[in-house]
Amino acid sequence: MKRLAFIFVFFAFSLIHPMIVSAEGPQNMPHIVIIATGGTIAGVALSSTETKDYKPGVLDVGSLIKSVPGIEKVAKISGEQIANIDSSHITNDIWLKLANRVNELLLKKEIDGIVITHGTDTMEETAYFLNLVVKGEKPVVLTGSMRPSTAISADGPLNLLNAVVLASSKDARGKGVLVALNENIHGGRDVTKTNTTSVATFTSREFGCLGYVLDSKVYFFRETNRKHTTKSEFSIQGLTSLPRVDILYGHTHDNRDLADASVKAGAKGIVHAGAGNGGIFPSTKDALKEAIKKGVVVVRASRTGSGIVTPSSNYENDGFVAAGSLNPQKARILLMLALTGTNNPAEIRRIFDEY
Ligand code: ASP
Repeated sequence: MKRLAFIFVFFAFSLIHPMIVSAEGPQNMPHIVIIATGGTIAGVALSSTETKDYKPGVLDVGSLIKSVPGIEKVAKISGEQIANIDSSHITNDIWLKLANRVNELLLKKEIDGIVITHGTDTMEETAYFLNLVVKGEKPVVLTGSMRPSTAISADGPLNLLNAVVLASSKDARGKGVLVALNENIHGGRDVTKTNTTSVATFTSREFGCLGYVLDSKVYFFRETNRKHTTKSEFSIQGLTSLPRVDILYGHTHDNRDLADASVKAGAKGIVHAGAGNGGIFPSTKDALKEAIKKGVVVVRASRTGSGIVTPSSNYENDGFVAAGSLNPQKARILLMLALTGTNNPAEIRRIFDEY
């Protein structure tokens, strides 16, 4: 019954918002392409007061563009749909497709910037992946929303407007892939989702946001000094898949079973989300040491959510690599890309120091 109701709401929306793929403004305006992938920003609930129980990835890109009054005064907009899913369903294949399309669009002289609408759950991962493989100085900005499009005080339209303002700004050029939500600008490397439901969920932990978008004006205060986009050594050109990297979550009274299973399943890399400064339970550590001897690269990250995992002779001597300030899900992305070129722990340590 609920499903039928969703379908009804979806069709009702389609009628109100027929598919459009461009909103034309005056000439000489920046030309921004919005690539939609789904998420809550495209989500629909049964009533305006339901903000947590809804179906994500329902509205198409044309409806998203139409939901932002005045967007046509900021930029000439074109829309493309790459997927329409909950972001917890994102795959490496979708990333490769998205990144290739972004790179293709950035080469076009007539395009000034790109906005990607995306579910917030894994936005930090897609942002970091793109930050490492997108080749260009033009702004690439991810945005989404915490409340579905049907909600009272839906945050999607303003987030999308701000993302378009940011992607249109010359100040955003060369700063790496950015995330714009809740009036904040974050860098793709450091941004992370910190709250399950709050609209103020994104932070860059102790590093802080890069700036703000307020009343359609962009304010930058800092930028990352870690390599990205045009300075990144990683390329996805010609890649059809990425090496398997698993994440293991450490805990007290742990065991070696999942580490062994991961190696048996063919993982080329393992990120261990350890206690504190990357501590690992003894029997799990034994399994991981054996994995390293077989050529699997093992990175020590932390469950704590902030700070850096520092190199320690207790681990480096056995070939472990420290994740630095990357959280486990971001360490996985860097390790996957690093493994496309090498599985030498010394070289991978260098990569974790630079990115
Ligand atoms: N479940 C949603 C997602 O696609 C959450 C959101 O977009 O806020 O990530």
